[in-house]
Amino acid sequence: MCNHFESDRTIMVLNNTVVQLSERLPLSGEWTFSDLLKDTRVRERWEKVRKYFFLRESTYDMATRCNMRCDGCYYYNGEKQFTEENLDPAAWRDLFHQEKARGITFVVLAGAEPSLVPDLLQACYDEIPLGCIATNGLRRIPESVGYKIHISVWGNDETSSRVRKAKNLLKKQVDNYAGDPRAAFVYTFCRNNIDEAQEVVEIMASNKCKITFNMFSAPLNYSGELSHTGETLDKTRTVMLDLMDRYPESVLFSHYNAVVHTHTSSLYRLFSCPYPRMNPSAAFGLGRSFRQYRTDLTWDRDAACCVPDTDCNDCRHYAAGSSIVTSKLNRHTAHPEAFKSWLDYVDTYLAVWVKGYEKGENLCSHREQPPGF
Ligand code: SF4
Ligand code: SF4
Repeated sequence: MCNHFESDRTIMVLNNTVVQLSERLPLSGEWTFSDLLKDTRVRERWEKVRKYFFLRESTYDMATRCNMRCDGCYYYNGEKQFTEENLDPAAWRDLFHQEKARGITFVVLAGAEPSLVPDLLQACYDEIPLGCIATNGLRRIPESVGYKIHISVWGNDETSSRVRKAKNLLKKQVDNYAGDPRAAFVYTFCRNNIDEAQEVVEIMASNKCKITFNMFSAPLNYSGELSHTGETLDKTRTVMLDLMDRYPESVLFSHYNAVVHTHTSSLYRLFSCPYPRMNPSAAFGLGRSFRQYRTDLTWDRDAACCVPDTDCNDCRHYAAGSSIVTSKLNRHTAHPEAFKSWLDYVDTYLAVWVKGYEKGENLCSHREQPPGF
């Protein structure tokens, strides 16, 4: 489905950085960490985001069923769609009890459509109350499930009708979630829907909804019409930045988000990937703690990442980025603008993923390139 984020490898990295801060060791360039924090706004933002470095995530497929059928859905690619559903709330409660004991503090409930199993969502929430649900928004999730809720938007209603086989989808999504503090809408840019983003963001703004941006990232062996080209990556970046500037109350995004997610190189090529699927080390961080559970409560280390069966060489997914980019603090301490960009990215991801977290004003107002590119 359409979800997810980061975890404790950040803590390892950040703990190292705290040591560097206290010892005033130079970082990768001429700057010490203390130098980077001399700007009051930067120091305050650092203090704000570092409170959340305890987050340690895993993800869970809640149902193999979906009330939609979208072109390019990664859930219905690969083996995970064929597992049995475990519909026993007690079994999920037990699993989450064990997950809590394992140190998991943030859960992402996704694929295929979690709103079809509200009793399971409630059981999960009662055990681990911090997390997020990725849903298509057709069916409202009960308020007693207090997770953040991401509602996937792939274009205007005409496009949704064509690509997702759903009529009046945006209206139904807004009717279900406008005014709900749990909700963040997620607009996925693909090759064909770039011009529709304006219309969708206007609707979001007029309904006082929050929205962030995602990039279509092709499932393995995908050959459909949604994949980006160099030209559509450029165009998407321009539209993202324009909408971010014009609708600051509605759009949760930063310049750096736009730069790294529309780069010609995928996130994997820019930063590598800490998820078990692409990270053989189980010694620390996500490689040690992250699991991607299927609906029968099994998991497979070789397939475990936030968007399984997505092609790493096309991975620009917002959920992947919120782990991949966030975990690369050390790469972003080379100079103040890189660090500010990284802080904007982390501030954005927390506002998108953590209920009650308010995004601050972006610190960096230009298109800083990823370090080394
Ligand atoms: S709503 Fe999500 S899970 Fe369902 S078919 Fe579409 S992309 Fe797949
Ligand atoms: S698709 Fe590849 S690069 Fe993206 S999160 Fe999964 S393993 Fe990492």
